[in-house]
Amino acid sequence: MIIIMLGAQGTGKGTVAGIISKQTGFPQISTGDIFRENISKKTELGIEADKYMSKGNLVPDEITVPMVENRLKEDDAQVGAILDGFPRTIEQAQKLDEMLAKSGKKVDLVVNLITPKDEIIDRMLTRRVCTNQDCKTTYNTKLNPPKVEGICDKCGAPLKQREDDSDPDAIRRRLEIYEEKTSPLVDYYKEKGVLRTEQVSISINRLGNDVAMDIVKDIK
Ligand code: AMP
Repeated sequence: MIIIMLGAQGTGKGTVAGIISKQTGFPQISTGDIFRENISKKTELGIEADKYMSKGNLVPDEITVPMVENRLKEDDAQVGAILDGFPRTIEQAQKLDEMLAKSGKKVDLVVNLITPKDEIIDRMLTRRVCTNQDCKTTYNTKLNPPKVEGICDKCGAPLKQREDDSDPDAIRRRLEIYEEKTSPLVDYYKEKGVLRTEQVSISINRLGNDVAMDIVKDIK
């Protein structure tokens, strides 16, 4: 089963994907995480990706698409996978359809998360991530703080703010790109009949955990 997480930055895609992954055993494949891991290890891919990521721009398809294709070929992704951060453009969605078709698969479910814009910006500024690459748990200093400030509850590693979350220009750029390039995917997947739209907002007391548990109930 191939699940895609759609939604602007800060809507909680990673949180929802993480819970679904834990409950189903499908790996969470986050292109942003793979890039960040490569940046911290200073690999060739990381050095190249950083040129785009640090400004809030998309990494070119020549780098991103083969990276996803290779990841989807790994053993743990054969029964199911949750794509978090890919596809981000219609071109990427078409390339994904092509690569899945080669192995007789298709996109089964697209979870589209919607959050009011002021809440999104606040969430990006208050997001903290675990620096341990094997953990990568995400916190929010307001909505979901760690028990001890700056320390991961799960593994004890220090938490940090993502570089692109601390730069207002990069945040604005990422939201613009989402509107222009990624939001057309909503219609793309609606037409395919696989779209599931979910509101995630403190104002309606519905956060990522609630959405994720409802989805797990429906797909299990
Ligand atoms: P994310 O962690 O999903 O917010 O992604 C962080 C950054 O990684 C983005 O702002 C892009 O620079 C890059 N990135 C992640 N996924 C993709 C993708 N599918 N296509 C191009 N760039 C991506």
